[in-house]
Amino acid sequence: MNKIAFIGAGQLALMTLPHAHRLGLLTVTVDTKTAPAHQLSHEQVIGDIQSIEVFHELLKIEGLTHVTLDIEHVSLDGLRLLESAGLKVSPSSRTLEVIQDKLKQRHRLQELGIPGPAFRAASVQEIDPEEAAVVKLPTGGYDGRGVWPLKKGPLPAHFCGSLLVEEEISIDKELAILIARNEAGQLAFYDPVEMLFDERLNLMATLFAPARIEDDLALQMKSYAQTIIEGLDYTGILAVEFFLTTEGALLVNEVAPRPHNSGHHTQVAADTDQFEQHLRAVMNWPLGESSLKSYAYTFNLLGESTGRCELANHQQWLGEPALFYQWYGKQESRPGRKLGHVTLTRPLNLDSKTALEQLISQKGRLDSCLKIQIQ
Ligand code: ADP
Repeated sequence: MNKIAFIGAGQLALMTLPHAHRLGLLTVTVDTKTAPAHQLSHEQVIGDIQSIEVFHELLKIEGLTHVTLDIEHVSLDGLRLLESAGLKVSPSSRTLEVIQDKLKQRHRLQELGIPGPAFRAASVQEIDPEEAAVVKLPTGGYDGRGVWPLKKGPLPAHFCGSLLVEEEISIDKELAILIARNEAGQLAFYDPVEMLFDERLNLMATLFAPARIEDDLALQMKSYAQTIIEGLDYTGILAVEFFLTTEGALLVNEVAPRPHNSGHHTQVAADTDQFEQHLRAVMNWPLGESSLKSYAYTFNLLGESTGRCELANHQQWLGEPALFYQWYGKQESRPGRKLGHVTLTRPLNLDSKTALEQLISQKGRLDSCLKIQIQ
């Protein structure tokens, strides 16, 4: 029997593990003690995934055959150690090395002929505070925490060393597409999705699928995604994030080497969700049907304060039609921390305007009872 390890035991591993068990795999999770996916795996290795020691511990696990990731910020030397011991690591250390570093990633995408914002590497001293630019930490950032638009003011102190400076794009829409590839080269595409802006929270908060874009644009996104996944020799599921500019140009923002927020709706809106697809790709098994079965509208349940957290009022959600929710089982809430998500669906025989109006109004009605209780 194959045994697969997940480096990182966050919510993505948590949502993948039930598929692994259903498909007949044994599982191991590797992360610090409180990581939520440890609750579901057969075996656990406790430690820091950015240090090499935990990878030595993982090598002691009997019968391990495959390794994958729940987060990209892992020790590359650790992955190389596993590879040299003969384990199948997907995505590989060679591929991850390029993706982990936003600057290397930008260079590689440029080599592959993929359009993106103009960029350069620069130190803090080489950045003009008046530039219309967005400054990014090349490594370690996530959920926008390593991203600083200069129009917001002076760079925070933790922006130091060699930085990625990108021209500030005038964005009409933020779009994403998920693509999977197995070692045999089989590909599976999901339909493009769009992020919707939440006026109340003042952030890109909600996902709508399929994206309301012309067919030509959707085809162009698929074609870029294919060039990237093949060019990176990537196996597994890959999320490709795009900007559609106010001038109508399609630019790639970045890629994420794992299941992604932009694919959570596939849990209910596709025959094979992104988590199962990732496993199939990593195991080099045939990929599953990925076409969209309904309109979907997904939003995160975010922590608002710090403390032990639990869901409240969710009995009310369970009585809602076409509502699916996923709780991540994290013990601690922090402001902005992803604690779960909700997907609402509508049948595809509606036109997209009507479907979206209905979904927005359902969410509005639910907002008051979508509460996370903090102790
Ligand atoms: P993260 O990896 O933390 O998600 P991203 O690189 O995706 O960071 O950037 C987060 C957000 O910042 C994007 O979704 C977009 O809204 C904005 N952003 C990023 N790069 C640019 C850019 N070059 N121009 C304008 N906005 C940008």
